[in-house]
Amino acid sequence: MLGVNVWRSVLGVDRATVIESVVEDESGFVVARVRLRRDARLCCGRCGRVARRYDRGEGRRRWRALDLGTVPCYLEADAPRVDCPEHGPTVIRVPWARHDAGHTYAFDDLAAWLVTHTAKSTLCQLLRIAWRTVGAIVDRVVADGRGAQDPFDGLSRIGLDEISYKKGHRYLLIAVDHDTGRLIWAAVGKTKATLETFFDLLGEQRCQQIRLVSADAAEWIAEVVHARCQNATLCTDGFHVVQWATDALDQVRRETWNQARRGGMKAFADELKGSRYALWKNPENLTERQQGKLAWIAKVNARLYRAYLLKEQLRAIIRLKGSDAITMLKAWLAWASRSKLPAFVELARKIRKNRAGIEAALTHNLSNALIESTNTKIRVLHRMAFGFKKPEHLIALALLDRGGYCPPLPGRTTPQPTHG
Ligand SMILES: [Zn+2]
Repeated sequence: MLGVNVWRSVLGVDRATVIESVVEDESGFVVARVRLRRDARLCCGRCGRVARRYDRGEGRRRWRALDLGTVPCYLEADAPRVDCPEHGPTVIRVPWARHDAGHTYAFDDLAAWLVTHTAKSTLCQLLRIAWRTVGAIVDRVVADGRGAQDPFDGLSRIGLDEISYKKGHRYLLIAVDHDTGRLIWAAVGKTKATLETFFDLLGEQRCQQIRLVSADAAEWIAEVVHARCQNATLCTDGFHVVQWATDALDQVRRETWNQARRGGMKAFADELKGSRYALWKNPENLTERQQGKLAWIAKVNARLYRAYLLKEQLRAIIRLKGSDAITMLKAWLAWASRSKLPAFVELARKIRKNRAGIEAALTHNLSNALIESTNTKIRVLHRMAFGFKKPEHLIALALLDRGGYCPPLPGRTTPQPTHG
């Protein structure tokens, strides 16, 4: 029989008393009966305020704890209710689990850590839980983290973006903090009202402290930002500007392909069809075959290659930033306007229209990578969140992963030596 102290340590209940541990006959599970220490005062499970005992609640309850070796383990304890002045009769706070949770802190944290580090099926098999349980765990871990520290304190440079999911039918509006690189807020929708809720959460004073806001060029975003954050300069996010150029290039590629097809140049059209990725990808990421494609385009179709160069040049300018980038942008606009490519003439017009915002982004050196990577990651998470019924779970998952709420592995809050 293990000593009581060893059990406390193994179960991670150092602030409770272990009464006994048994292997349950029918299930084969280890069940550890625990209780609050004798000197512990009863507190409301929701607010933590000390309160008077109300009744015994629903009696004994169980919480799933970390497995002991290969055996599932549960903690079992009385869960009386207190009469909270604010919340009325509420189950007491226990030191081993979050309020209303069926799992211990350690179990929740392990599940939350795994969800951001491994595949969905691996997690469910390893922990022997359903995916919807994971959704509930993620929700409470994130809510707990956001309750402990206000995520909106000290904001000064933020980025806003709309992310489409469900094949463009649904949108999330997100806010990132350019200083910490974290996702700080997300909500379903992409209307002025959606954005208003974010600034409502911030409150008047914190809105006035915001100096820079990066976003795509949507007018409705500009309107709300100007109305709510009077001290902020609005920057057009470079990631979106590059996207516009990619779209213009794609238009030229399609035109060229259609012309080739109609002109009876089938072989040429086919070859062109396979060149999409070579044109899309950043040159440093091209495979050898794609590099070959690009060289072929340069040789056989000067018009399409010019479109490619225009896109790449604009991308280089956006990455360069600073006053050199602003000078180069001026030259680029002249080149695009003279390019005889309607898609790029149109793009030059759009960039001129948004020039103040684009130049502000170049001047203030805001990172496009943050918006871009958040955007990409949320799409990945959306695929993962398939099976979660509500978008709120997707939001919690995104905040867990990109908002800095992923807990360390249980028992490893400080770096530990590795053994063997
Ligand atoms: Zn309370």
